Amino acid sequence: MPDIIHLLPDNIANQIAAGEVIQRPASAVKELLENAVDAGATEIKLIVNDGGKALIQVIDNGKGMSETDARMAFERHATSKINKIDDLFRIRTMGFRGEALASIAAVAQVELKTKRAEDVSGVFLQVENSVVIRQEPVALEGGTNIAMKNLFFNVPARRNFLKSNAAELRHIVEEFIRVAMAFPEILFSFVYNSQELYHLTKGSLKQRIVQVFGNSVNAKLMSINEQTDYLNITGFVGKPETAKKTRGDQYFFVNNRFIKSPYLHHAIMNAFSELIPRDSFPLYALFIELNPELVDINVHPTKQEIKFEDEKLIYAFVQAAVKHALAQFSVTPTLDFELDSTIQQLDAVSKPITPEKEAALSGKQLYQTFTQKNQAHFIEKRSDLKHWKDLYPELRSENKDVVLPGTQNDLYTGKDEAPKEVLEMIQFHNTYIALQNTTGVLFIHQQNAHERILYERYLSAILNKPVTAQQDMFPATLELTTSDALILRELLPDLNLLGFKLELFGKDTFIVQSVPADLVLGNVKALIENLIEQYKHFSVDLKVNKRERLLQSIAHQNSIKAGESLSLKEMQVLVHDLFQCDMPATSPGGKPVFIEFRKEELDKMTGR
Ligand code: ADP
Ligand code: MG
Repeated sequence: MPDIIHLLPDNIANQIAAGEVIQRPASAVKELLENAVDAGATEIKLIVNDGGKALIQVIDNGKGMSETDARMAFERHATSKINKIDDLFRIRTMGFRGEALASIAAVAQVELKTKRAEDVSGVFLQVENSVVIRQEPVALEGGTNIAMKNLFFNVPARRNFLKSNAAELRHIVEEFIRVAMAFPEILFSFVYNSQELYHLTKGSLKQRIVQVFGNSVNAKLMSINEQTDYLNITGFVGKPETAKKTRGDQYFFVNNRFIKSPYLHHAIMNAFSELIPRDSFPLYALFIELNPELVDINVHPTKQEIKFEDEKLIYAFVQAAVKHALAQFSVTPTLDFELDSTIQQLDAVSKPITPEKEAALSGKQLYQTFTQKNQAHFIEKRSDLKHWKDLYPELRSENKDVVLPGTQNDLYTGKDEAPKEVLEMIQFHNTYIALQNTTGVLFIHQQNAHERILYERYLSAILNKPVTAQQDMFPATLELTTSDALILRELLPDLNLLGFKLELFGKDTFIVQSVPADLVLGNVKALIENLIEQYKHFSVDLKVNKRERLLQSIAHQNSIKAGESLSLKEMQVLVHDLFQCDMPATSPGGKPVFIEFRKEELDKMTGR
């Protein structure tokens, strides 16, 4: 038998290694921007075409490269940033693994122009499949101009994995903002398909945050500036009113490197608890500066995760710093404790998560587990019911005489007489409607139920007439942040089909000409802003099409909410309408609408 092990050719080894570093266009954007930052640039321009699939180009005015360095830069493990392993713990640059350019050259067609200030002419290199195919001198100002074209041109399987241009663009914008946020002293611009999306002039961190998130956040930022012997925490957190239902505006930097840390995010959320609704997220951009020896940044190929020497200590500092800001800005009435050099002696720091605290946190969970357990049991039972219609035969009867009176919807207008069948029901906790049926008792979640009803109503309205009745209005303008405007542009065709008349006006401004009368009940601006927020939330779910998701979201917004008190008549209409639906058992978002407790089960549980 022959031996079977052989070394892979360089270009293939590089392609494989590239998989770790360059997962999508946004990863290349991150690497190229960071190289420009490391090169000491004060102005950085990003140019992207077609979701980054066709072109990603970064132009900087940094220190440039010599001819030899320019060729070396594309070799794997080629870096100017570290020499020995200990250097990893002194690192002040964004890069150090020497993999980015090698990876990019393995999976894209690269053109590099670079020149150092001291050199007379620059060098132009063209690289393909990890091989330099052209090299010549070139005239340019000092700095580097690197263009990568046709990402994954030679790895079709990976190219097929890329999402739509709009989706890839969103990832790119995210990476761009992460880098731009960390370096407000650098001018960043971003041109997408020949249009300048961002032009972030040099300034303070606060100015940069306002440039990115819009003027409206200006008055809602609380500054954080805590200096201690161990670490410094600076930056801004949004006042509680900046909290949104979706994540996205949360930025953590350690030594100016953006990191993802659910653990530290939790520290902030903890500081905000009781001040914002559950499941909502305040805006923040926090910078932790500490001795590089106290963190390991080499635990993840794209360096977005790091390991702290003492994670609990950082947790306590972050939480304390945020609480301090909340107290200083009178968001909370009292100061928990002063944050100064003596903080390290405090219990809260040496034992940040005490057993008591943990118990307090999970205090409510005991009860929840208990009730959830029982619910799971009943949902199981409910699923043996093949015909949900049996649940409430009275309502399902084809008896057209059932007339339900005065409603918030206009299905039954004009009939103010009492229903022929009076259904007894009670509302619990302004959230559940309980009613007896032939086999037991039903608990209906009022919001889930109403979302289902509205959703099916909208859907049938749209199927019947693609563009619903228009409600003309005095044109309203919507000014959005650039990233939100990109999302709205993506939604425009579907919104048009739903009967919205929206026009793009300038770059980030839209004019709302008219809206579909049956979908928009309240404030159009709020509705559209909410749609964008929701879209961020559901864009990952590819199973449902965009129009359905928009309808879901509108149904959600227009629905009766949990916590609203309902009159008996309102409950009756709701229950009636629910059981006219095609799929009454689940909300459009997939949540159970009702739970049945069967009498026999109750009997069993009570030992009868
Ligand atoms: P790393 O950044 O980890 O060192 P890269 O593959 O990203 O690895 O880059 C390799 C080397 O190429 C860098 O160490 C740097 O010396 C040089 N380099 C890359 N981009 C630039 C740039 N925009 N300006 C100057 N030098 C650069
Ligand atoms: Mg690099």
